[in-house]
Amino acid sequence: MSEDLITVTRPSLPDLEKLQPLLEEIWKSGRLTNGGRFHEELEARLCDYLGVEYLSLFTNGTIALVTALQAMGVTGEVITTPYTFAATPHALLWNKLKPVFVDIEPDGFNMDASKIEAAITPETTAILPVHCYGTPANVSEIQRIADLHGLHVIYDAAHAFAVRHKHSSLLDAGDISVLSFHATKVFNTFEGGALILKDKETKQRVDYLKNFGFANETTVVAPGINGKMNEFQAALGLLQLDKIDEDILARRRVYRKYQAALAGIAGLKLMDEPLDTQWNYSYCPVLVQDEFPVSRDELYDDFRERRILVRRYFYPLVSDFPMYFDSSAFYKCASSVAERILCLPIYSDLSEQDFARIIECLNDVVDKSTGRYRGKE
Ligand SMILES: *Cc1c(COP(=O)(O)O)cnc(C)c1O
Repeated sequence: MSEDLITVTRPSLPDLEKLQPLLEEIWKSGRLTNGGRFHEELEARLCDYLGVEYLSLFTNGTIALVTALQAMGVTGEVITTPYTFAATPHALLWNKLKPVFVDIEPDGFNMDASKIEAAITPETTAILPVHCYGTPANVSEIQRIADLHGLHVIYDAAHAFAVRHKHSSLLDAGDISVLSFHATKVFNTFEGGALILKDKETKQRVDYLKNFGFANETTVVAPGINGKMNEFQAALGLLQLDKIDEDILARRRVYRKYQAALAGIAGLKLMDEPLDTQWNYSYCPVLVQDEFPVSRDELYDDFRERRILVRRYFYPLVSDFPMYFDSSAFYKCASSVAERILCLPIYSDLSEQDFARIIECLNDVVDKSTGRYRGKE
């Protein structure tokens, strides 16, 4: 009997009984997309839930990011991090912008703010940091540098849904924050995303841009794109939002169980919860240290053999992708983390049995290497 697949994350199941009436309402309304009732309701409820003033929904996070750069009129070079998902630098390339990578902090996963100024050139117009795993980037220092040099700051906040830092929403930092509601994220609409905006004018401009630039039926004010979230996505989002607090609490329980279980295993370092932060427990990143009996990749293979789909977020570094690779550049801290990182499964309905299978795999790997393993080979 082969055991069930454990994925690194999975969306929690919305209340299906509530879904049917919403779908019927969408059909009856005759408005399947283009800012229907559920789209408007989800924008309002997300603003309220996240504690932000302006938000514009998108069909996915990547189009939202591409549009944010357009809305701010970013040109030339943009300073960003090599330790991120492909979408971050790709959004720059789609806008014909040049990514300039700076390394991450020695003991963290986010852009090292002390390295930003050395990377600024006369072509630099913006900084695009990532709140990696939902841990806050050094927002105050990044803003200080941006103000000093007249740069835009756009946060890739794809991991940072609902994160609060020092008592305010982390999504308030910078000019714009970009959210992703992809199926792998804490809050999801299967595919989806949003921009968090600071003023009514920018919100209006973004709303035009995501609808081909239409300001009304006959007026097109900009070469926009189709970034609209449809009513089905929005209805799913409303149902997910009903139980998001529950989901995050359940994730926290899983994280705390990992903390307890991994404390006894030498050579595995679970990320510490970020300080002064109400975190979302979006990922469970572990560094596989030299003391651990097998390499990160061997451990990854062992998990996979047991149908446990752990992930190497983020390996390889985006700066090693062929379209960004520069043989004269080396990002020491990011490279070191990329070689050692492993993200363990975390989601709200991870069962006791599945959690036990994950820990059993870790224990077996350790026991095998010390000759204590008595399971079947
Ligand atoms: C998921 C993700 C995105 C892209 O979001 P999509 O909604 O999948 O397009 C962008 N940046 C980071 C860091 C992500 O993890």
